[in-house]
Amino acid sequence: MKSKVDSKFTPMIGLEIHCQLNTLKTKLFCSCNAQFRGEEPNTYTCPVCLGLPGSLPTVNENAIDCAIKLAHAFDSKINKRMYFFRKNYFYPDLPQNFQITQYNKAGGVAFADGGTISIKFDNKIKNIELDRFHLENDPGKLVHEGGDIESSNETLVDYNRSGIALIEIVTKPVIESPREARIFLKKLRSIISHCEIVDLTKDGAMRVDANISIKGHARAEVKNINSFKEVERALKWEIKRQINKLKKGQETEQETRNWNGKITTLLRSKESENEYRYFPEADLVPIEIKQDWIDDIKEKMPELPDERIARLQEEYGLKEYDATVITEDKEVADFYEECCKLNENYEAIKNWLMNDIMGILNEENLSISSTELKPKLVDEFISAIDSGKVTTKIAKKYISKIIKGIGIKKWMKKQGVKKITDKEKLNELADKIISDNPDVVEDLKKKPKTFQYFVGQMMKATRGQADIQLTRKILKEKLKKYMK
Ligand SMILES: [Zn+2]
Repeated sequence: MKSKVDSKFTPMIGLEIHCQLNTLKTKLFCSCNAQFRGEEPNTYTCPVCLGLPGSLPTVNENAIDCAIKLAHAFDSKINKRMYFFRKNYFYPDLPQNFQITQYNKAGGVAFADGGTISIKFDNKIKNIELDRFHLENDPGKLVHEGGDIESSNETLVDYNRSGIALIEIVTKPVIESPREARIFLKKLRSIISHCEIVDLTKDGAMRVDANISIKGHARAEVKNINSFKEVERALKWEIKRQINKLKKGQETEQETRNWNGKITTLLRSKESENEYRYFPEADLVPIEIKQDWIDDIKEKMPELPDERIARLQEEYGLKEYDATVITEDKEVADFYEECCKLNENYEAIKNWLMNDIMGILNEENLSISSTELKPKLVDEFISAIDSGKVTTKIAKKYISKIIKGIGIKKWMKKQGVKKITDKEKLNELADKIISDNPDVVEDLKKKPKTFQYFVGQMMKATRGQADIQLTRKILKEKLKKYMK
């Protein structure tokens, strides 16, 4: 909600998202192995990605497949003659002193122009327009030993990442609030995960820079934002900074700023495109993207989030909101559907998966595939609850074990957890609880809901092991005379 004071200041946000094509086997311009994570530094390199004199790049055809796929997903217009440009700048992680990229000026074109991503929030649908997207290579990585760029005594360079394929997606400055930016990013992540071109569980697979301005004033670019939640926070902070400046009668300036988790600080000012001296990459010939190639990939397009959200509602009776949340990550949606093949209590699967299991995974920063969680464990667990073998209380105690691959039956055996179905034992306990609480029995006459208190006491006394149905039956019989 905009406050009255700020209503004359309209924020305009555009996002630039770098997606690392980390599902490819090799880098963008050489045949070095692209699965470099966790490997010894500077071992996945060759003369091309080290920028040695005389080395020549060649384009990875599979990276173009990924770009075509994305163009179909966004409904973008592919530019059928593909050129690369050199973007010149010096930085230690960039051994060539230029990045090979695509440029939409000076006679160049992006890989694809336009396209939209529709988002839904506050019951409205908004189509966020994309400006363009293009292919380029990732630089290497600076490692600041024992600290960050400011506190570290030495900095090392690892070129394993140098030359990994990236797709940079640029939106038009049509996003109007930090929250809208976050919702957009979630939708984009969902599309990318369904296209299976980026493994999003890998660190740095999706990186966001944001351009922010107040309508009619100069814009700032904010870099180094680590997560979608941080994007929302950084944008909020930066909008406030710009509005405060304007309110004081000062002007905002074109500048690049760094987000450090608390505030944005000035990195460099008045950087302009011509400082990069873009010019065509003469070592790579233009590539023609034939219609056959585009059509061929279109035929093999996977199901995309919007279709899937509709289908999940139809097939499993999910609410739109739940279907949307589940679809945010393809892996989660796939897992949900695998569970539903084994067990028809779709609602219970959704609840336990979204509320409990995902909560634990998020807290520990894990993906489903990195754990021992399997659909058959979920099926066994839901069946145990539905058949009354397990109370909700015990289920809650167990649930963190499911991601370790431990089945509910095995766990209960080990814990010595058994449901108490001994009628005599429960009768005795009920008598004791009733005689210990004469005041509550008195309350029961006026407020029948107080009945729940006795159920709670029974469960507490048995550490959640009392058979709930039997407990209720016994208590009802004993307390009947006090209830109207
Ligand atoms: Zn290489």
